[in-house]
Amino acid sequence: MDSIELIARGKINLYLEIIGHRADGYHELVMILQTIDLADRLILETGDGISVSCSHAEVPTDETNLAYRAARLMQSEFNRSDGVKITIDKQIPVAAGLAGGSCNAAAVLVGINQLWSLGLILPELQVLGGKIGSDVPFCLSGGTAIATGRGEKLDPIPDLESLWVVLGKYDGMGVSTPWAYQTYRQQFRGKYDSSGDMGSLLQAITSQNGATIGKLLYNDLEKVVLPEYGPVERLREAFANAGVVGMMSGSGPTVFALCESEVQAKLVQERTREAVNDPDLHFWVTKFASTGIELLTTEDKRR
Ligand code: ATP
Repeated sequence: MDSIELIARGKINLYLEIIGHRADGYHELVMILQTIDLADRLILETGDGISVSCSHAEVPTDETNLAYRAARLMQSEFNRSDGVKITIDKQIPVAAGLAGGSCNAAAVLVGINQLWSLGLILPELQVLGGKIGSDVPFCLSGGTAIATGRGEKLDPIPDLESLWVVLGKYDGMGVSTPWAYQTYRQQFRGKYDSSGDMGSLLQAITSQNGATIGKLLYNDLEKVVLPEYGPVERLREAFANAGVVGMMSGSGPTVFALCESEVQAKLVQERTREAVNDPDLHFWVTKFASTGIELLTTEDKRR
């Protein structure tokens, strides 16, 4: 096999609580992560050296691209000199808190495992993924999971598949993840109090109670991002006026809300769009998904 195509899905944080900081500079987190159907498409082909091309102009194509780093890691871990040509069709907004880069890295690990017939199983791929970034192990497995540590320790929980998501993001606005965590650390050093109710949220997830899940969404990073990014705060308010809780995903600036049906999601999208009335504000309607990375078969590709 000398070419492979993959779907790499993004994620949202249903819950993000910072419980402390660690000696290694990272934060100790408790999160509930959820895969969504909004996805990039990647093609991997055998080639000379590693090369990356991407449909989105803001995404770097050099060795700083996480897909590139994943390919480089596979070369060094398995002592291979084979090259790979990576083509990314970017649909997930960039620097948006949706793990766009991490899921590309996860797709490259899965793709190269297949291209080079390495026979690695998911837990082995997840160990490699953790060396690239904290979100990569989750992107590999997907679904609904509790993530602890830096976000790399995963406990799967029953998948939620029936909920719809409205995402809103301003064009050209990105939040640096390191900036968000560093600012949080400076502001809340030593007193990491959180008002999230993870126990009730988990209960609502177990009983698949969409309406309650939507009300219990929580993200500590809003405390530092919202005061700096006024439009994100206003977008959150516009979602509330449309009758749903708007919550920032990861380090933002994407704000999302949960809905019980596609019809409700589209209604919320239209109401929020009209209320904010800003041509730079873009929306996506998508749904929960249970798989992070998907290898496309010849049959899938014809669709
Ligand atoms: P996370 O939720 O994992 O913190 P994010 O969704 O906030 O990530 P990304 O879309 O991964 O953010 O992009 C963060 C930065 O990473 C971008 O500004 C870009 O320069 C860089 N980057 C490197 N590789 C990629 C990639 N394959 N796709 C998108 N961005 C990438």
